[in-house]
Amino acid sequence: MDNIRHIFFDLDHTLWDFDTNSKETLAELFVQFDLQSYGIEKSKYFVDRYQIQNDRLWALYRENRISKSQLRSARFEATLKDFKIDNKRLSKEIGRAYVDQCPRKTKLNDGAIGVLNALKDNYTLHIVSNGFDESQRMKLEVSGIGSYFKEIITSEKAQAKKPNPRIFQYAERVTSAKPNESIMIGDNYSIDILGALNAEWKAIHYCPEGNSQHEMSIQVLPELLPLFFESSNNGLTT
Ligand SMILES: [Mg+2]
Repeated sequence: MDNIRHIFFDLDHTLWDFDTNSKETLAELFVQFDLQSYGIEKSKYFVDRYQIQNDRLWALYRENRISKSQLRSARFEATLKDFKIDNKRLSKEIGRAYVDQCPRKTKLNDGAIGVLNALKDNYTLHIVSNGFDESQRMKLEVSGIGSYFKEIITSEKAQAKKPNPRIFQYAERVTSAKPNESIMIGDNYSIDILGALNAEWKAIHYCPEGNSQHEMSIQVLPELLPLFFESSNNGLTT
């Protein structure tokens, strides 16, 4: 890790516990909109179908085949249709409530704050996220980690989404970081890791399942610390 000065973190699923926060929001929406009265028996069924539809639509969004607003309305419309509920107005309202409520959730992945605290004095920390600007800023603020990061780089600002090299080049310009001083830490192999490697950055794959295809990977966030600090020849650069 010689030369590394800038650490770029992905946010969703890497620092911010997206699964827990999103599931919690969806379970609340299930009650709030009384979805049982529309014939969805259990909150779990709603959450499961949403995750499938959201993943499918996010892949289209990442490839620029649908817009942000299409993504936001279509994911609940498609979820409700899976239960034979054809109700555009309802899906719009749920969609709006989700976008408003989910970023207010505060669960972080284990060890996140300890790791940021340990790294902050020796490295400059930033976020690089494909999420929406206002949502990501809200998540950082309410979960109490906003102040650790110098730059919050979102695909909306960069006008390019990971793994497109343009977002990594944009990050270099904004932070004055050189590729050989930069490392990306993220949970998605094809987006975060391959994107960073293409930009000639280093990368660490946060892979809780432990079956990473990348040579440098961790299963829990605190495993980052020995990589950055343990021995003088693979770690600390001050
Ligand atoms: Mg992620």
